[in-house]
Amino acid sequence: MSRPPYKRVLLKVSGEALMGTRDYGLDTAMLRTIAEDVRGAVALGLEVCMVIGGGNIFRGIAGAASGMDRVQADGMGMLATVMNALAMQSALEKAGVVTRVQSAIPLASLCEPFIRRRAIRHMEKGRVVIFAAGTGNPFFTTDTAAALRAAEMSCDALFKGTQVDGVYSADPRKNPNAERYETLTYLDVLSRDLGVMDAAAISLARENKLPIIVFNIHEPDAFTAVMRGEGRFTTVVEH
Ligand code: UDP
Repeated sequence: MSRPPYKRVLLKVSGEALMGTRDYGLDTAMLRTIAEDVRGAVALGLEVCMVIGGGNIFRGIAGAASGMDRVQADGMGMLATVMNALAMQSALEKAGVVTRVQSAIPLASLCEPFIRRRAIRHMEKGRVVIFAAGTGNPFFTTDTAAALRAAEMSCDALFKGTQVDGVYSADPRKNPNAERYETLTYLDVLSRDLGVMDAAAISLARENKLPIIVFNIHEPDAFTAVMRGEGRFTTVVEH
């Protein structure tokens, strides 16, 4: 088994990915697939932390569009990410992976608060840490939270699990002529508006020289494979 080129990584999974083939909510089969994939990465000796989105349950922007106060709606969105994080924790523990959830919004009866040093210690002990409630602030996304936590945790790379096997010039599910990129720079992503992650997340990754690796989370063991340098993915780096 080849040694992964990383020591500590952050995996960002959107809420949408957790829906599997459903239109809303959680798909337990999908949670199991991701949990088994994460178990594979941990078995390679990697330290793994995760950020989970909430778009499968509630997005602040959608709430605001229907007349809700944006800050209030973003609070609901952040709580949605906590629900997903608890579901992911449950799936990981079923797969035999020791896990801790740390929330940016204190929810003492459900999970730990976000404490950087404690999170690092958990990972050193082989536990997977799931960061919930995004950044804890409205007007941000969990993509930005992923870049923030990856930088804070001194991760070697940020892995973004998406619906397709990398970054394309257009949505390949809608446009068969979409071009797939092997490597991109942060500036390419920003200037071509490629929609890999939002601009705040890309800027934060760029400032911290944090490579972003985009891969298809729906393929079984895709995360573990990419970790070994196998499979298909797009890398976003400085040059
Ligand atoms: N959110 C927020 N601050 C953050 C992260 C998330 O207010 O730092 C809210 C926001 O309303 C967002 C929702 O949580 O719409 C769910 O997160 P996101 O849309 O990033 O989830 P994903 O698209 O990854 O499923």
